[in-house]
Amino acid sequence: MDTELLRKLSEADAIAASEQEVRDLLLIEAQHYGKEVQFDGLGSVLIRVNHSDGPKVMVCAHMDEVGFIVRSVSREGAIDVLPVGNVRMMARTLQPVRITTRDGRKIPGLLDGETKGETVENLRVDIGATSADEVLASGIDAGDRVTFDTRFQSLPHQRVMGKAFDDRLGCYLLITLLRELHATPLDCELWLVASSSEEVGLRGGQTASRAVNPDLALVLDTACWSKNFDYSNANHRQTGAGPMLVLYDKSLVAPPKLTAFVEEVARAQCIPLQKDMFSNGGTDGGAIHLSGTGVPTVVLGPPTRHGHCAASIADTQDIDHTHQLLVALVARLNRETVAHLSDFRCFPHDERR
Ligand SMILES: [Zn+2]
Repeated sequence: MDTELLRKLSEADAIAASEQEVRDLLLIEAQHYGKEVQFDGLGSVLIRVNHSDGPKVMVCAHMDEVGFIVRSVSREGAIDVLPVGNVRMMARTLQPVRITTRDGRKIPGLLDGETKGETVENLRVDIGATSADEVLASGIDAGDRVTFDTRFQSLPHQRVMGKAFDDRLGCYLLITLLRELHATPLDCELWLVASSSEEVGLRGGQTASRAVNPDLALVLDTACWSKNFDYSNANHRQTGAGPMLVLYDKSLVAPPKLTAFVEEVARAQCIPLQKDMFSNGGTDGGAIHLSGTGVPTVVLGPPTRHGHCAASIADTQDIDHTHQLLVALVARLNRETVAHLSDFRCFPHDERR
């Protein structure tokens, strides 16, 4: 586990469409291994790991985190902000945040809002200013991005805490896959895609998949359970219980043949899996599986505790297990396997014969 890499990814600030700090970390790695990089028109990073006439496999994680954007500055020096992505209501009051100005300065402040029933409105960041002139003189202007001011920390029992684990854990896995597979002969053409603007409506997933035109897609994302200390069977996002295999969400019902394939590979590698369902929300998988004439797509990833707020907690063993599973999956994705997974003349259980 490269916790220093995860720290850098977690502490990078990137809301939708302002993802350069994360993009830079990916570009450094791609350059280090001499890999071709392309971009879609939104800024998603498309890293081609190898050349092959085998099927194109796209592994995708999103770069953006939920946060806020500066809307306006009041005469009194309050900075009005709007949420970008679905920030949890409780995380919209009394939270330390930082504003990234267009010249790259980081200005800390305190986010607060007015609670009205179930919602929190009129969000404002206080940087201690007493006038609009003071705010503007500090370099802050409308359109600047605002993110939680959270330091990455290691916890006991190989667990970690930090912001933006959704989906920097996925970005971390893109990089560890690149590091492991950069010189490995593969029977597929592997594309590692870091998508833009997932949290505002699966946008980079759409445009990046048009650019890659994959035959099969593995989407890396994370989720938390509403009750963090619930260890009942209902909770398939338990810390330390293995990667989640997402069978269903509002945007994608995973193809049973593909999920059976993932389960089979996990079993062979002795990697535990948690079969998850998102009762609401979706992932880039929802956009990717509808690209072209349709792409067999499945979503997996390490679970987290606490999501879309100032900090999440994850288990590094879950992250490592997801990495091992991805390596084993990619190794098995050849022309024959992908053709089989895209063949609708036979049922999932037929492949176990
Ligand atoms: Zn996500």
